[in-house]
Amino acid sequence: MKVLLVFAHPEPRSLNGALRDIAIKELEAKGHEVRVSDLYAKGWKSEVDRADFPSLASETRFIPAAASKKAFETGELTEDVKIEIDKLLWADMLILQFPLWWFSMPAILKGWVERVYAYGFAYGVGEHSDNRWGDRYGEGTLAGKRAMLIVTAGGWEEHYSARGVNGPIDDLLFPINHGILYYPGYDVLPPFVAYRVDRLDEAGFERAAEHLRERMRTLESTLPIPYRQQNRGDYLIPSMQLRPELGEPAASGFALHLDGAGEAGETSGQRPPQLQAAGAR
Ligand code: FAD
Repeated sequence: MKVLLVFAHPEPRSLNGALRDIAIKELEAKGHEVRVSDLYAKGWKSEVDRADFPSLASETRFIPAAASKKAFETGELTEDVKIEIDKLLWADMLILQFPLWWFSMPAILKGWVERVYAYGFAYGVGEHSDNRWGDRYGEGTLAGKRAMLIVTAGGWEEHYSARGVNGPIDDLLFPINHGILYYPGYDVLPPFVAYRVDRLDEAGFERAAEHLRERMRTLESTLPIPYRQQNRGDYLIPSMQLRPELGEPAASGFALHLDGAGEAGETSGQRPPQLQAAGAR
């Protein structure tokens, strides 16, 4: 497989730097081809602004989505963005690696998504009709490819469990896994998360490293998170609400969008067996 690893940590000698090197070594040992986008090392510009669209006339009001659409269609995106888009098209597998900062990704990585995910490339794709609401959530430009997160967190695993004070890790990562990766079509593998990393001893480091090696060895066989596909009939159009007969009637929240949640004996909020079998943690 061709693997693109987008790395967002400012210090190469960090734990994240060490885990990145371990992941790359394991992937290459398995015969995969790896490319890395090291965002801090390349001084990635993270904010979307007029400078991204040099052909936009100075008197024209700047509408980011409209400017992105036109620049994508006319091939006028900036060179740094075009390079990243080409890498996404090249890769069979995308890995986003980052430390959890304020319950999400570092700003530089969010800025990579905002600039690289152009209108017409990652969103605004496909037709809207009575049967379809564009190509997204399981369909889209990047369909058929896989993606996953490598995340380190200072908090304890229990703090991110179903009843943990931070909220469940699957919920916190839902906007990234479902909103950023599944949206343009990726099959999303369960994330690798290393917890309680700030005072990691050698044994803890080796445990995390071995778990990561195992995840890299099994990239091709790991089952994706079974999100529901948007255009397969589970959602009403145009409200895009889950059909009332699917999921628990009173339930809400992210777990509803897992295929099988609330049906055939599942209760809302529980993860379907596919997800547990995939070794999510
Ligand atoms: P480092 O600081 O580089 O390393 C951590 C430890 O790993 C080191 O002390 C060392 O003992 C060990 N280590 C590193 N490299 C090696 C090696 N090669 N071999 C052996 N041991 C090694 N955490 C949360 O849970 N939720 C949050 O919302 C959150 N928000 C944050 C916001 C900010 C702005 C910051 C700065 C931190 C936040 N944290 C949060 C904590 C953060 O997630 C962790 O600090 C981060 O994941 C640690 O990763 P690192 O690569 O920076 O680790």
